[in-house]
Amino acid sequence: SKVPSLTLNNGIAMPQLGFGVWQIEDDQAFTTVGQALEAGYRSIDTAAIYGNEAGTGKALAASGIPREELFVTTKLWNSDHGHDAALRAFDTSLGKLGLEYVDLYLIHWPLPSRDTYIDTYKALEKIYADGRAKAIGVSNFQPAHLERLLGETSVVPAVNQIELHPQFPQADSRAFHARHNIVTEAWSPLGQGKGLLEHPTIAELAAKHGRTPAQVVLRWHLQLGNVAIPKSVTPSRIAENIDVFGFELDDADLAALAGLDSGNRLGPDPATFDVG
Ligand code: NAD
Repeated sequence: SKVPSLTLNNGIAMPQLGFGVWQIEDDQAFTTVGQALEAGYRSIDTAAIYGNEAGTGKALAASGIPREELFVTTKLWNSDHGHDAALRAFDTSLGKLGLEYVDLYLIHWPLPSRDTYIDTYKALEKIYADGRAKAIGVSNFQPAHLERLLGETSVVPAVNQIELHPQFPQADSRAFHARHNIVTEAWSPLGQGKGLLEHPTIAELAAKHGRTPAQVVLRWHLQLGNVAIPKSVTPSRIAENIDVFGFELDDADLAALAGLDSGNRLGPDPATFDVG
């Protein structure tokens, strides 16, 4: 496919652009993931809590695309932290997806107040050793959580999936990941489509390049070296969001985008988030 891959720290290739399926109902996931595969996406990002692993899995099967050409990520929900609960949750996810392995399994949130992510991650290490996840990693981990994980477990996470977009660029986390050979994966890469895509700076860059605001933002992610997983249920946007390999932002463009940092996240603060 035309989407380039990054090589994870264990040698596994991961498409740099994937498709996110948060807030897509299970039966709609079948249709929408099918459209994304048709448009050329090969990497799909789901999670147990999204409730659409079954619909996603059906779409993967129905596509007829060989398993080795797909990259499937799912995530362990907060209620399944703990070593044994994590092993059970993984079996459930794999069953719903109808797969024999996932490409990437992530701990969805660190829940530092519960002090469970080390034991949970050790279960992921077993799953990885069994070959049922080709890579393991985390999501929403801050450098302090990663420091502890690196000190107390053996497999360096391949990926940390965090909220990241031009208004919340996470420079400290990206630098930490780079030092430890952890790929940074951006969730809500389009800032959830809200204010970000109407920002005048992005509108100017879109006009300059003859592209859309979403394409400018996705280009920014790619040029920073992030993996990005934009979501849409609109076929034209699904196609638009993968058509980002025919142009390049220049240094002045990147400098202009650096001016958008608001310091404000859209989602919860991982240091205190503790639901589920
Ligand atoms: P996003 O930044 O991908 O924005 C999606 C929204 O932007 C769409 O619903 C639509 O309203 C709009 N949009 C999409 N394409 C557009 C286009 N071309 N033009 C105009 N508007 C467009 O937001 P997201 O869904 O929050 O994040 C993407 C994925 O990241 C999720 O689906 C999920 O897989 C993942 N995610 C993970 C976590 C986590 O905790 N790990 C949290 C949130 C999201």
